[in-house]
Amino acid sequence: KGELMKGKRGVITGVANHQSIAWGIASQLAAQGAEMAFLHLPGMERRVEPLAEQAGVKVLAPMDVTDDASMDAAFDTVKNAFGTIDFFLHAIAFANKDELKGSFVENTTREGFLRAMNISAFSFVDCARRAAALMPETGGSIVTLTYMGSERAIPNYNTMGVAKAALEAAVRYAARDLGPRKIRVNALSPGAMKTLSLAGISGGRGMLAKGRSLSAMREDTSMEGVAGAALWLLSDLGLSTTGEVVHVDAGFHIMGFTEDEGGEG
Ligand code: NAD
Repeated sequence: KGELMKGKRGVITGVANHQSIAWGIASQLAAQGAEMAFLHLPGMERRVEPLAEQAGVKVLAPMDVTDDASMDAAFDTVKNAFGTIDFFLHAIAFANKDELKGSFVENTTREGFLRAMNISAFSFVDCARRAAALMPETGGSIVTLTYMGSERAIPNYNTMGVAKAALEAAVRYAARDLGPRKIRVNALSPGAMKTLSLAGISGGRGMLAKGRSLSAMREDTSMEGVAGAALWLLSDLGLSTTGEVVHVDAGFHIMGFTEDEGGEG
C-alpha cells in the first residue's frame, strides 16, 4: 500500500474479469489511494460488480465504444460523479476471430478490418477527447494498451497488429495535441498475457510460450510489472514522459534470436 494516487480520480475501461489487464492495473491504483470509475462493456455487470466492490469502486457504467449514445451516457456518469478526472485507462480491443488466424492477406475482410480499427484504435481517439474535456487545467494522464504485433509480423495477430499500429500513431498525435494542456498520453506494450482477449487469438497459447522462451529474461510478462508501469505513467512519477510506447515484456522485443535458435556454429 502507498499514497502515489492519493487525491487522484480517474476512469478504468476494459475490466471484463479478474484476468483483465485493466483489473490488474485498477487493483494497483486502488492500493495507492486512487478513486475510480469503471466503464465496462454492457452485459458484463455480473463479473465486473464484485471486482469493483473489491477495489472500493462505487461509480460503474456500461459503455460500448461503437455507440455514441452509450459513450455520452458513460462520460456523463463520470462527470456527475467526479466533476473532473486526473487519469484515464483505455484497455479495449476487438477483432473477429476469423481474422485472427492464418493468412492476413487472405483472411482480412473490409468489415472485419474496419471493426478492429473502430473498437481498437478509433475508440482511443474518442475516449482521449472525452477524457481530456474532463481534465483540469493542471493536466492529467491517459494510458492505452498495445502489443508488439504492431511493429513485427506475429503469427495470427494479423488485423489486430494493423489496428495496434494505428493506435500507437494515435498516441503520438494525441500527445502532441494535448501536451500544451499538460495531459500526457502513453501506451504500454505488454508481452503476451493469459486473458480473455488472448484466448480469441488462434494459437494464443503459443504466443505465451514464445514470449517466455524468446524473451531476454526467459519469463512471462507479470501483471505486477504491467501494473507498476501503469502506476508510473498515471501518477506524478511519470511527469515529462509523453507520446511513448513502453514495452513491458521481459525483453521480448529487443531480441534478435536466442542462442539455442541459432543453429550450428
Ligand atoms: P480482456 O478481454 O480482459 O480486455 C479487453 C476488454 O475490451 C474487455 O473488457 C472488453 O469488454 C472490452 N471491449 C471489447 N469491445 C468493447 C466495446 N465495443 N466497448 C467497450 N469495451 C469493449 O483482455 P486484455 O488482454 O486485458 O486486453 C486489454 C488490452 O490489452 C487490449 O487492448 C489488448 O489488446 C491489450 N494487450 C493484451 C495483451 C495480452 O496478451 N493479453 C498483450 C498486449 C496488449
